[in-house]
Amino acid sequence: MTYCGRFAPSPTGLLHFGSLVAAVGSWLCARHAGGRWLLRVEDIDPPREVAGSAQAILDALPAFGLVADAPALFQSQRQAAYDVAFDRLRAADLAFPCWCSRAQLAAEGGLHRGRCIALPDPDRPPAWRMRVPDGTIAFDDALQGPQRQVLRDEAGDFVIRRVEGYYAYQLACVVDDAFQGITEVVRGTDLLDSTPRQILLQRCLGYPTPAYRHLPLALDGQGHKLSKSGQAHPVDPGDPLPALRRALAFLDVQTAAGADSPAALLQAALERFDPARLPRLAARTL
Ligand code: GLU
Repeated sequence: MTYCGRFAPSPTGLLHFGSLVAAVGSWLCARHAGGRWLLRVEDIDPPREVAGSAQAILDALPAFGLVADAPALFQSQRQAAYDVAFDRLRAADLAFPCWCSRAQLAAEGGLHRGRCIALPDPDRPPAWRMRVPDGTIAFDDALQGPQRQVLRDEAGDFVIRRVEGYYAYQLACVVDDAFQGITEVVRGTDLLDSTPRQILLQRCLGYPTPAYRHLPLALDGQGHKLSKSGQAHPVDPGDPLPALRRALAFLDVQTAAGADSPAALLQAALERFDPARLPRLAARTL
């Protein structure tokens, strides 16, 4: 099977250093494997979206030498595919409607575990949750090692479709990773604990489970994740080399000293790149 990787930014702000690391890491793994590298704009959360940021991210990537093999897939245009997956889960009784409020769930430790507190309310739309079975979901992360999660205790019956009618990230991500034929997911460790939920969804929908490689998360001096919404550490596509060098150094990837363009720098990095030597750390401070 041909390797296929992806970078899947949410358009919640400009490209920042943490997302550049994920983009560069996933690009290197795909190119090293002689595979494809795809883009996906995760614009399924309109309230969190920052106008213009999807285009700004898509415009910035080629400035950093990161060119995808196909036009980006936009999740805002994938409603019909999510509807099909959602209908299958409902038909198989793997998803159920839930009217519980956050406050009601807080009293239960914040998780929904098999039992609704609120009664059905025909006057209000419900959220839809996965009926999470007992048992452990285990997978081997290529960098972070063996992972196990008792989904019921750590995620509970998680939401796949919100009260507002938007599909949740977990469902959209799984449907699109399958649709795009992704064979390995390379992303930050902030999503490591989402992976068992995604594996459950893949199993319920009959999709293959890709390999996973979670890169260390970039933290600022205070130990906080860099976030696009916080506008921390945006990278400047007008002057790409310094940030690209820092992203490669963050991933312990050697480069040539003299490279004078992003494409040349990435090519030099690729020649020395070994995915097995990426840092096996959960996080790294800048
Ligand atoms: N859209 C997510 C983010 O920007 C990443 C999703 C993924 O890589 O699975 O944090």
